[in-house]
Amino acid sequence: MVSSFVALALSIIYLNHSCNAKNLPSILPEKNGLVANSWRLLQNSEYEKDNLFCLSNGCVKVAASLINNMDQSVDPCDDFYQFACGNFIKNSILEDNEKLRGTLSLIAKKIENQRRMIVNEPIQPDELRPFKMIKLQFKSCMDQEKIEKIGLGPMKEMLKSLGGWPLLEAENWDESKFTWMDSLNSFKEMGLKINYLLKISITPDFKNRTKAAIFLDQASLGLQNQHLVQGRDYRAVDKYYRYMVDISVLFGADRQRATEELRESLDFEIELAKISIPPEEASDYLKTYNPMNITFLQQKFPSIPWQEFLNKLLNQFIRQDDIIIVSSLEYFSGLEALLSKTPKRVQANYMMWRSVDDAVKCLTGELRQIKQTFETLVFGTIEVPRWKECADLSFELFNTAIGSMYVRRYINENTKNNALEIVNDIRKEFYKMLLSNEWMDDETRKSAMDKAKLILANDIAYPDELLDDGKLNSYYENLEVNDQDIYTSVLNLTKFSTDYEFSKLRKPVNKLDWVYNSGVVPVLNAFYNPQGNSILFTASMLQELSFSNDVPRYMVYSSIGSIIGHEITHGFDNSGRKFDMHGNLANWWQEETNKRFLEKEKCFIKQYDNYTIDGHKLNGTLTLGENISDMGGLKLAYNAYREWVKVHGNEPRLPGLQEYTPQQMFWLSTANVYCSKEDTAVMHFLRKYDGHSLSRFRVIGSFSNLKNFSDDFRCPLGSNMNPTNKCQLW
Ligand SMILES: [Zn+2]
Repeated sequence: MVSSFVALALSIIYLNHSCNAKNLPSILPEKNGLVANSWRLLQNSEYEKDNLFCLSNGCVKVAASLINNMDQSVDPCDDFYQFACGNFIKNSILEDNEKLRGTLSLIAKKIENQRRMIVNEPIQPDELRPFKMIKLQFKSCMDQEKIEKIGLGPMKEMLKSLGGWPLLEAENWDESKFTWMDSLNSFKEMGLKINYLLKISITPDFKNRTKAAIFLDQASLGLQNQHLVQGRDYRAVDKYYRYMVDISVLFGADRQRATEELRESLDFEIELAKISIPPEEASDYLKTYNPMNITFLQQKFPSIPWQEFLNKLLNQFIRQDDIIIVSSLEYFSGLEALLSKTPKRVQANYMMWRSVDDAVKCLTGELRQIKQTFETLVFGTIEVPRWKECADLSFELFNTAIGSMYVRRYINENTKNNALEIVNDIRKEFYKMLLSNEWMDDETRKSAMDKAKLILANDIAYPDELLDDGKLNSYYENLEVNDQDIYTSVLNLTKFSTDYEFSKLRKPVNKLDWVYNSGVVPVLNAFYNPQGNSILFTASMLQELSFSNDVPRYMVYSSIGSIIGHEITHGFDNSGRKFDMHGNLANWWQEETNKRFLEKEKCFIKQYDNYTIDGHKLNGTLTLGENISDMGGLKLAYNAYREWVKVHGNEPRLPGLQEYTPQQMFWLSTANVYCSKEDTAVMHFLRKYDGHSLSRFRVIGSFSNLKNFSDDFRCPLGSNMNPTNKCQLW
């Protein structure tokens, strides 16, 4: 439950601006032949006073890109997104397999290629053992000849050793030897996943984050919940069913039998989907926090021998004072009822099917092709090249070591320090904002201040441990991966990570869990973790959004500054505010101030509910936290930049854009982070399910709430980008 800058939308592209900013003699701006709006004429006269602009390599590149993306025929006071991104949208052509192209998605692609290069390089004799293991694993994943030669034999043997897949064993399957609990335990020992009926994880207790708790959550399903609940006749579910049958036949099942038995297995999975709580409720911290001890858990759900089950699975004795947090009481009541009426054979068919489905990407080309066909029919995804499948698999299983390789290879040593400097600037602005805030009482304000001061930013860019050979070697000490067989490697790695997770139960909670935070280093994103009260901004994002000293700082504050501000604001959005300075779920809001917050958030809900795309409304409630954070982040970054200018003086303008003031460039540059073109289906998918608003409205919504924006562009009051009613919070 971590808020991120980009989640579903992998969007946004940027430019690599590396250059030496030089203050060059003034050149009078060329009169722009396009629409000469009044705001633009005003800019020109101001410009002549500044007398400077930057012609360095980086400045020229960044200017060219901004100019290419914008549509200067649009009035920025009418639609700033179109003004900043109009030509990007017009000139971007989505390729056959491309669902979305934007500033961020183009960077994400670049980072993906970097990850590929890392894992694909020849092994060096003197490199660290974890790095060698990654390369061996990737190599074995790419060795399709060997995969074909190995075939399905070892996997079938493994299924047999686990009691057998009933539909393969036919009449020979022995029901008396099966319980789902024993099976999950054997699955864990074997290195299979164990989240098919319920999920168990070790997590800090939401209300006392110094202590680790056992978190019991609903199952992960083989197809999205929203499809499964529609029932067997629903198109996606029907395709899933056919896919199951086809795979089992390749494993040697009789088609007739597979059709019958997998129908029951699917019905069971549909029932699991029906008792699951929907995603919007699953992210409600208060609703999913149901702590209890083992005795209470046993009383609440008596048909499952919890102590015995958990002792075995976690491989440690569950004590009375261990905290067990149940995410959904309804789910576990439903699960008890469902298990009691479902024959063991159906349960076993379902669990074995899920473990087979999870293995397909490591098995023969024929199986992978069937899976691909299914995914194309249901999700419209085109064939993923094998290298990508393998690189993704390496990253999924080896993310800490890959993070370490990535930092060593691609990250400039100044990146982290530069980022920390900006974090401090933004944090100062947040303090100022709290002090000048008029709607908070003093006590709540003080708690907010304490919380802001304690926001951890140590792992900005990357945890330092990633550069520590000893720590990395010792973390992977018990793992064995070779190039013999990709599936065995995957099992070893899965077991390794499950064991690591479960070992955290008796250890003190470490706020700075470098292993946890290192996993995202080579991913384009930024995060706020309410439980750690910490922000994380990945090294790859910093690197790619540019940390050059050679471009004007308005380019840096607008992109990186506003994203850091966004993450800090998440600590005080509608969800983040429910956690205190130590990351505990606790109410630190005085009643009156709380009411005012709720009033203010209503304004945001209404504002975004009113935006439509192709006649379909956005969901202001779903996107509330992100919208609050977008606006907060922008405001903080803008103010921080203004402070920077006070100390360092006015900055040069960019060639070809010399009519725009540095302040205007700040807005233009921020909007560019969001330039994005999506295909219609993806756009509506994001509109319905993504916690972030669509890119267009991330710009229009937050910019139009900010007076600084309309002042800088001299937007008349009442214009689209300067509405009379503005939503204000932080
Ligand atoms: Zn966010």
